[in-house]
Amino acid sequence: MSGISDSFQRPINYLRISVTDRCNLRCIYCMPSQGISLVPHGELLSYEEILVVVRAAVELNITRVRLTGGEPLVRSKLVDLVRMLSSTEGIDDLSLTTNGVLLRHYAPALKKAGLKRVNISLDSLQKDRFRYITGYDGLAEVLQGIEAAHDAGLEPVKINTVVMRGINDTEIIDFAHLAQEGWHVRFIELMPNQFAVQFFNLSFMSAYQVKQQLTSLGNLESCLSSSGNGPAKYYRLPGAKGTIGFITPVSEHFCFSCNRLRLTAQGGLLPCLLSDEQIDVKQPLRRGALPDELKQLLEQAVAAKPPGHRLAQGVIPQRRSMSQVGG
Ligand code: SAM
Ligand code: SF4
Repeated sequence: MSGISDSFQRPINYLRISVTDRCNLRCIYCMPSQGISLVPHGELLSYEEILVVVRAAVELNITRVRLTGGEPLVRSKLVDLVRMLSSTEGIDDLSLTTNGVLLRHYAPALKKAGLKRVNISLDSLQKDRFRYITGYDGLAEVLQGIEAAHDAGLEPVKINTVVMRGINDTEIIDFAHLAQEGWHVRFIELMPNQFAVQFFNLSFMSAYQVKQQLTSLGNLESCLSSSGNGPAKYYRLPGAKGTIGFITPVSEHFCFSCNRLRLTAQGGLLPCLLSDEQIDVKQPLRRGALPDELKQLLEQAVAAKPPGHRLAQGVIPQRRSMSQVGG
């Protein structure tokens, strides 16, 4: 089985699937505080429909799948979807991105169902600041979720931290201390979105600026990721048990190595996170499209991948919030 590449010779082998547009948090950079208008459940792809898309993707040698949202763990019976996907021949890597609030309830069952690993989003280690950023007093629950993920063996557990000037930049060193103790922390640059352009302008902090703060802890030595070949660049502080990663969609974009497609909860195939373009698979699925037609739609989405995002030219996606795309 040969793999699929886009028009810029980038091999595409990774599919991020948003399983719901719902979320139990309201992170300031992701969703407006009043939330977004949600689509009726019947408009979301069923697990069976997602499976059909994944099987077609496997035919194209897209063998790595990540479940995201919204918050994937608020969708009922997510463990069933994990079981369906993990038992699909050809899937090499099945992972989940979650805010961690509900993870303590599900970590063992997810592992048993075949999930390999989790990324957990956590922007503050301080109770009040966590509530300010997310709109929910849930830090303790997330910390329990992180522990539960380790206990269940969903390794490597990676912590994703969006750094925001004036909001959580005073905690960069605290997160780095946790990396010294064994956490795998990834600092993510804030991306702009249509409802929070001013917030982005005020709060953006580049990875370079984050690194400057870390110099007080010693030299960051470049190292390899403990899993996969995603967009992060990894480093280790002297003597640290864990790693520090940087994801730089804004200051140093990594579009030249983009290896992914995205599928929204409503069945939109997205060639690029930061573009409004999408190809619908829901209607074809619901009128009984054959696997070959789905493969063609996936191929179309791959062919439509742009060379890169156009944030620097001021092009910000308008149609969807990050919670509808899955990050
Ligand atoms: N709810 C899950 C979570 O928070 O992990 C999964 C969906 S969330 C949209 C996926 C990732 O996107 C999270 O790590 C979140 O921090 C990130 N994200 C959302 N909006 C962002 C923005 N404007 N800039 C940078 N990262 C963002
Ligand atoms: Fe929800 Fe994740 Fe967006 Fe936060 S980042 S609002 S947890 S979807």
